[in-house]
This record gives sequence, structure tokens and C-alpha cells, in this order.
Amino acid sequence: MLDKVVIANRGEIALRILRACKELGIKTVAIHSSADRDLMHVRQADEAVCIGPASSLQSYLNIPAIISAAEVTDATGIHPGYGFLAENADFAEQVEKSGFTFIGPKADTIRLMGDKVSAIQAMIKSGVPTVPGSDGQLPDDPDKIRAIAKRIGYPVIIKAAAGGGGRGMRVVHSEAAVINAVHVTQGEAGIAFGDDTVYMEKFLENPRHVEVQVLSDGQGNAIHLYDRDCSMQRRHQKVVEEAPAPGIDPEARAAVFKACVDACNEINYRGAGTFEFLYENGRFFFIEMNTRVQVEHPVSEMITGVDIVKEQLRIASGLKLSITQDQIKENGHSFECRINAEDAKTFMPSPGKVKHFHTPGGNGVRVDSHLYTGYSVPPHYDSLIAKLITYGEDRETALRRMQIALDEMVIDGIKTNIPLQQDIMADANFQIGGVNIHYLEKKLGL
Ligand code: ADP
Repeated sequence: MLDKVVIANRGEIALRILRACKELGIKTVAIHSSADRDLMHVRQADEAVCIGPASSLQSYLNIPAIISAAEVTDATGIHPGYGFLAENADFAEQVEKSGFTFIGPKADTIRLMGDKVSAIQAMIKSGVPTVPGSDGQLPDDPDKIRAIAKRIGYPVIIKAAAGGGGRGMRVVHSEAAVINAVHVTQGEAGIAFGDDTVYMEKFLENPRHVEVQVLSDGQGNAIHLYDRDCSMQRRHQKVVEEAPAPGIDPEARAAVFKACVDACNEINYRGAGTFEFLYENGRFFFIEMNTRVQVEHPVSEMITGVDIVKEQLRIASGLKLSITQDQIKENGHSFECRINAEDAKTFMPSPGKVKHFHTPGGNGVRVDSHLYTGYSVPPHYDSLIAKLITYGEDRETALRRMQIALDEMVIDGIKTNIPLQQDIMADANFQIGGVNIHYLEKKLGL
């Protein structure tokens, strides 16, 4: 087992990783910016190193500073969490070249999946269903582009191969607009990502976002931990997640799970990962793979009993998966509400001092949060301050527990989106389950 791990992240996920390390007897090094000295996990880690000023560019994205911190503390592994450098192949490569273990996939795998065109091609090869599209980079010839769009059928979406965070995409409704849209997207992608490769997909009008969690040890053992529905989104940002995804045909589910596991074996995947799909009219369409732990991983842990972060640490230590597919049983239902420091109506960030923090509790309630009374939420980073997770033997019970937990939760001093989450939980269509990715924005009148 790894002996000492640098936690190259902040906030709730840093604390989540710290707890998993402690359970496994792994020593921990917290790295932090000068604005983050008071983070909960910084206080609890065995060692802490300030690696730079508040700006993420000079701290949590500063590769040499992070590697130096590992060197001076004699750490053996580096866990990137999510966001920041978690899907940066160059970081993974430099970590390994410097003699440390990157707790995640091999750099080549991150690169393969980070380029959406090569990712889609790898998926097609492994039998994972993809969105009908160009299946590769668009040619330069306008006639050929028009022919591809015609074959796919309008509306289509032009996407940047290097795109991320919901940027670098353009929907096209007619042949008259397609060539211009390709050129504009290429131009934007070149500036934003330094790579102007674009591809085309059928634009699905009312899909759900359903994703599959996998774990693979790179030694021939891959498993899935079922699915999650993350359709409740605003500006491509997930707001609520649940597992399993409700109301999906069991045969379609079984087939997609098998395809994901096969793909892991095919590419010899190492670590935790997520296959993201759009789901429409009973069919799954792959859009991208995330090669890291995700914010919403706890809902899968709740319905399977598998600790995803501990498995990541085991896999990175060169151990085999501690469980086989047969040993995992899907049990009950789980929801996660992302609690953000922001105005529930305007979504303006609301950093500042937490005057009082009271966590809900009771049967089936889990709170993953770095908050404490007296803590000041800095203005420099993501506004996620807590994840409220509930479990129940069925969906209704998990949802009722979420409503009670949201009512119990107290965060005084700053604004939070708890009122929005209460509205969502009380929404009749959400309660039925299976709303599509546009539902929340429509409900909010956006
Ligand atoms: P990113 O890496 O930027 O998150 P994705 O490929 O995951 O990009 O797409 C982000 C979001 O854009 C999806 O969750 C979905 O809402 C929308 N989207 C992407 N591709 C399509 C498509 N073919 N049809 C409809 N919506 C799409």
C-alpha cells in the first residue's frame, strides 16, 4: 500500500481523500494556497505545505510546486481529486516521471479520453453506443461536411475535440448555417483550447444525462457500480444526482454496463472512471469519459457499499480490486444535493464567514463537507461547500430523507442554494423521476 499521499486538491474532496487515506493507514500531506490555511483537511493532515498564493494558477494548478511538495515530504503518491489537474495528462506524466505514483489512469489513457474524437473512436471499437455523428474529425471540404450533416439529420451539434466544461459547442438547425457554424466553432476552439479540431453529432433534443461508474485495476479486473442520473443541471453544471437512474429498461442498462466494462478491459483502464451518456427514447449514447473520481461518486457508494476512493488508492498501490462484480449488489436508492455558497435565485457567489453550521443527521444521511462554524469561504474557488447525500431502501424514502435533511441543515452567514434544492425536491415531476437535462432551466425560467 502507498505509504504517504499528497492530496493535490482542496475543499470537500480533499477531506474525502484524507479520510480514505486514514482508514487505510496512509500518511497524508495537504498542499494548499495561502488563502486555504484554515481548511479542515489542512488541520487534520499529517503534514501541510503552502504551495503558493490564492490564485489557482499559482497554487492548485502549479505542477512544479506540487511535485516539489511531494519531494520535500517524501511522499509516494499524489491524488488529484477532481477539477484542477485531475484530467491533465501532462501532470500525470510528470508525476510518474518524478518517481511518484499518480492516483489515476496512465497519462496515455487520460490523453486518449481527453480528446473527444479519439475517445469516441475508442468507444466505437469497444462496442459502446455513441451518438450518430462524423465519428471523427470533420473534413475541410464544405460539400463533404454538408453530406455528413445530411446523413446524420438536422439538428446537429458541432463540438470541439478538446472541449470541456460545456464550452466549444454549437447547435445547427439547417444546411444554410452549417459551414459557418463549423468555422466559428473551429476559431473559438483554437483560441480556447489551442486545438481547432471539431466533429459533428446528432443533436439530441430531450435527453437525460445518465452515467456509469467503473473501477478497473489495470490487471484485467474491471467492474461497474451501476448508473447515476445527473439530468438536473444548470448551465451544464450538475445540481442534483441520484443512483440508480430511475425508470430505465433493465435490458438496456445491462447492455450498457457490459459495454463499459468491456471498454475498460479493451483499453486496459486503471482507476476509477465514469462513462457519460445521453439517454433518449430508451437508448444510451456515449458523450465522454471522465478519468477521475467525480463529485457525485457518493450516491454510487451508497447503493453498492463500495468505497470508490479507497479502491482508487488500492489500485494505485498495485493491488487488485478488492471486490468482484458478483459480490456487488445494487441496494436501495441515493440522492445527492450539491450545496453551493451562492444566492438561490441569482446564483451570484456568496463567499464569507460561516457564522453557524449545523449538519443534518439520522438514518441514511451523509454529509461530505469541509465547513465548520467560523470558517470563511474564500472567493477564489468553486462555490461547492457541501454535499448532502441520503440513502433509502427505495427512491421515495431517500427523497423524503433529503427533504428532512435540507430542512435541518443550517448554514448562517452566507447565502446558499438550499432553498433551490428544497424546491427541486418538492417538484412533482422530479418526484416522479426521469426528467431531462433541460428541465431545471425551464423550471427556473431560463
Ligand atoms: P463537456 O466536456 O464540455 O462537458 P460534453 O460532451 O460532456 O462536453 O457535453 C456537455 C453537455 O452538452 C451535455 O451534457 C449535453 O447537455 C450537451 N450535449 C453534448 N452533446 C450533445 C448532443 N449530441 N445532443 C444534445 N446535447 C448535447
